[in-house]
Amino acid sequence: MIRSASNAPCFVGTWSFALPALEAGWSCLGEDELAILDMVERACAHADANPAVDSVGFGGLPDSSGVMSLDGAIMLAPDRVGGVCDLRHHLHPVSVSRRVMDSTEHSLLCGENADRFADRHGFERRSILSSEARTAWESWVDDRHGRDRGATQDLRPVDPGTSSDGRLFRPSSLDGAAPAGHDTIGVLARDRGQRMAAGCSTSGLPFKVPGRVGDSPIVGHGLYVVPGVGQATATGTGEMISGVCASFLATEFLRRGASVVDSATETVRRVDETYELEPHHQVAVIVMDCDGAISAAALRPGFRVAIVEDGRREVLDPDVVLHPEDGMLPESAIEGLAKPTNTPNPEES
Ligand code: ASP
Repeated sequence: MIRSASNAPCFVGTWSFALPALEAGWSCLGEDELAILDMVERACAHADANPAVDSVGFGGLPDSSGVMSLDGAIMLAPDRVGGVCDLRHHLHPVSVSRRVMDSTEHSLLCGENADRFADRHGFERRSILSSEARTAWESWVDDRHGRDRGATQDLRPVDPGTSSDGRLFRPSSLDGAAPAGHDTIGVLARDRGQRMAAGCSTSGLPFKVPGRVGDSPIVGHGLYVVPGVGQATATGTGEMISGVCASFLATEFLRRGASVVDSATETVRRVDETYELEPHHQVAVIVMDCDGAISAAALRPGFRVAIVEDGRREVLDPDVVLHPEDGMLPESAIEGLAKPTNTPNPEES
């Protein structure tokens, strides 16, 4: 199990690249509801701002027309949630989501109107497509013309570990140019008052059809929190996560008495039973119960969980991988994935 029940605060997130983001968010740990929201917002913003993380924020891969769009959400409870999707001119979807939660009666704003909302609330407009992501898109366009492939068919997220640059997506066939990639940071926080909050930030699937929105900004899909019961966040192929309402399902298992391990496992199993798996599919879920126990499960190898708590900074494999035999990338490819980078994080400069 990733963590046994404990009243102590903790912070957990999807993929290795979440570790520095969680550490940044951990510095906001405090006593009240605002502090736990600060933890979530700060962690997601840290990942957004890191151009080396190729699945979130600046550095994320654009849609098939070369346009970047971001999705995100933040949640304290079913009646305390905000989200934005298809944000094109603002870098921090979770910060804008928090404003949606705090200052409107709505839970989700999209597209141009989400950007206008962010303008009205004083968020800075800026370019959100890095030059590296643009280059990756250009080579994807060239490659695709040559081989007539589908938009995301050759891309499956594989976590290269903390020594790497935060890139998750490489061709599953391993024979094409390796684009810098995209994915999702999903975080679950628990504070000193045993309060819980969740957040998600993503650039969505790389080279998606323009207008496509995945699970991340949608309540019950990319994240869900039930005070007094537990919380969950999901990452991977958004359509499959949405199809089973994965984060809602995981907390519903908890509500009916399942352990965190069973909740995470049964949620991923539901995806497995529902879909014909293609080579590029991956779904993973992290579940925390109201006693502070944490577990994670994934369909396939390649997913990792980052955790921060007092005296602990760690990246772990999930407790359960449903298809362990299913295509861990060969060593040679993992070495390629793990190429270090010196790209500075603008948040820290
Ligand atoms: N779930 C995200 C989406 O489909 C992407 C990911 O987590 O890999 O937009």
